[in-house]
Amino acid sequence: MRQKNMHSLRVYLYIAALGVGVLLLSLLLFSKPTPVYEEKEFPVLGTIVRVKVAGDKVSSNVLLNTAEQELYRLHNKFSPNVEGSIIQKLNTDRKVEVDEEGLFLFQAAYNYSVITGGAFDPTVRPILKLWGFDDINSTKKVPTQEEINRALENVDYRFIKIDEEKREISLLKDGVEVDLGGIAKGYAIDLVIQKIKEIDPGATGFVDAGGDIGIIGPKFGELAWVIGIRDPFSQDALKSIDTIYLTSGAVATSGDYERFFIEDGKKYHHILDPEDGYPAENASSVTVIAEKAMIADVFSTALFVLGYDNPALDYFTDFGIQALVISPTGESTETSGFDYFREKM
Ligand code: ADP
Ligand code: MG
Repeated sequence: MRQKNMHSLRVYLYIAALGVGVLLLSLLLFSKPTPVYEEKEFPVLGTIVRVKVAGDKVSSNVLLNTAEQELYRLHNKFSPNVEGSIIQKLNTDRKVEVDEEGLFLFQAAYNYSVITGGAFDPTVRPILKLWGFDDINSTKKVPTQEEINRALENVDYRFIKIDEEKREISLLKDGVEVDLGGIAKGYAIDLVIQKIKEIDPGATGFVDAGGDIGIIGPKFGELAWVIGIRDPFSQDALKSIDTIYLTSGAVATSGDYERFFIEDGKKYHHILDPEDGYPAENASSVTVIAEKAMIADVFSTALFVLGYDNPALDYFTDFGIQALVISPTGESTETSGFDYFREKM
């Protein structure tokens, strides 16, 4: 009797061990390996672009190389201060022939200027130059009112002529100069993501261009990326006042803390109001969530100019965005769907 019990116990143990073995083996065979993230930073487009990516079918490093190529290509093509870029050519020769991509970006910049009533305006470059925000190396200083008035005569997106047939961009007035700094970064993020996905549709990760972030895919293929919104009143770049969760799409924040100088105790930053030529003062930070980084980028700049007391804020949700605007005194307003992104998905 006792021996029989021992025997069946042994059989049970044997079956159990076999079960565990089969389970482990199938886990090994059928579970996907945990994605391995690789990241790299690239000093392009007037900022530091950080790409963090894990390949699914292709090695993460190959995807980083793709990102690098795309970023430098766009940097050389669209930076106003790069010799031979189409922007530099346009500003000196007054007209330039463009390819399909150039045409797309100019048309987008123009259309968003119309949509935002000129709050977004790629012809702000003459005033950017006066303040020294056209380049990191330019001397930063407060211009005189006369200098501003003179430069303002050349600021109006309607001075840009886009000839779709001839694929030619021209400037209709002497002194007009363009800078796509408010849109090119977002476009570059979208394109890097697109190129990575063309090679490896299951890749995950994100592209972060100085606070403008596009999602390649959810963390480890399933989790939302946690994105802190920086406290615009803190010196500490890591202090956040809010948190959003994204598994796809993009978010951009424009803040008065990004590029600025202080003169006589007053802070002057790089987002200029094309109406009066001064740094926009009716916001301290604007965060915009959209499907594409280009749209988030444009609207974060435009809504910053329009300010926190902009009664038309919700109107812009028609363009597929949600926004959080923080006033210079710390009050905030937001579009009706923004709160959705505070939920962990
Ligand atoms: P950041 O580049 O710091 O993230 P933004 O996305 O808001 O900030 O873009 C600011 C850049 O856009 C400026 O550096 C300048 O090149 C350009 N810019 C500034 N004011 C305007 C404006 N009103 N419309 C379009 N572009 C602008
Ligand atoms: Mg922006």
